[in-house]
Amino acid sequence: MEFDLATILKLQQIDLSINDCLRKEEELPRRILTLEDEIASRQKEMELEKGKLTELLKSKKEAEAEVELMRGKIAHYKDQLLSVKTNKEYAALLKEIDAAQKKVDGIEERIIGFLIEVDEHNAHIKKIESWFQSEKSKLLAEKATLESELAQTRVARSGFESKRVEVEAILPETVRHTYSRVRALRGGALAEARDEFCMECHVRLRPQVYNDIRNNNQLITCDSCYRILYYDGPPPLSISDESPESNEPD
Ligand SMILES: [Zn+2]
Repeated sequence: MEFDLATILKLQQIDLSINDCLRKEEELPRRILTLEDEIASRQKEMELEKGKLTELLKSKKEAEAEVELMRGKIAHYKDQLLSVKTNKEYAALLKEIDAAQKKVDGIEERIIGFLIEVDEHNAHIKKIESWFQSEKSKLLAEKATLESELAQTRVARSGFESKRVEVEAILPETVRHTYSRVRALRGGALAEARDEFCMECHVRLRPQVYNDIRNNNQLITCDSCYRILYYDGPPPLSISDESPESNEPD
């Protein structure tokens, strides 16, 4: 037979499945990348926080050493107070002690500021750590699922492609040629004809053409969208009453 509707429909079904696979093969890597980005950005956030914390602890240590130094100086001045001979020397030492003490107060205030900041960064680090504990494994599991889905899709597409070669080979040259040409043009090669209309481009078909399509036994294309027209419904002449082997239980 020139026109084998079942085979053409099968070919279209395979092509739709291949398109589905291709769509997934494009979409899944994007979703995998999004998950990887999320994990990487948290990782980076963590490194940044830890870097800031190290800096702060270093500054705090330096400030503490400075306080220690100033306290040593103050103690030394106080020792000297005991052995000065003049009021002038005494007054000068008191002034030095006062200046050193003011410096100590200022540094100690800075240390308190550092401690508050250290607490804030520690809290942030704890938050990121708990995110890693609860969310990272979820994201990795999700990523593994997507990766396996992607691998399965590739295998499935390769299967559909082999099947396609087989099915296409069954079709007569003219049908195969028309099918490929229209598919390249429209994305899909078939259009159902129903109630005298092409269901894809909605153009009205001539009654004689529609009658011919209903027989599903010749290659007829839509004048408007060039798709191969087929009829999906009861045949024009019912032959359902002439099946003698109908022996269903009820
Ligand atoms: Zn059409």
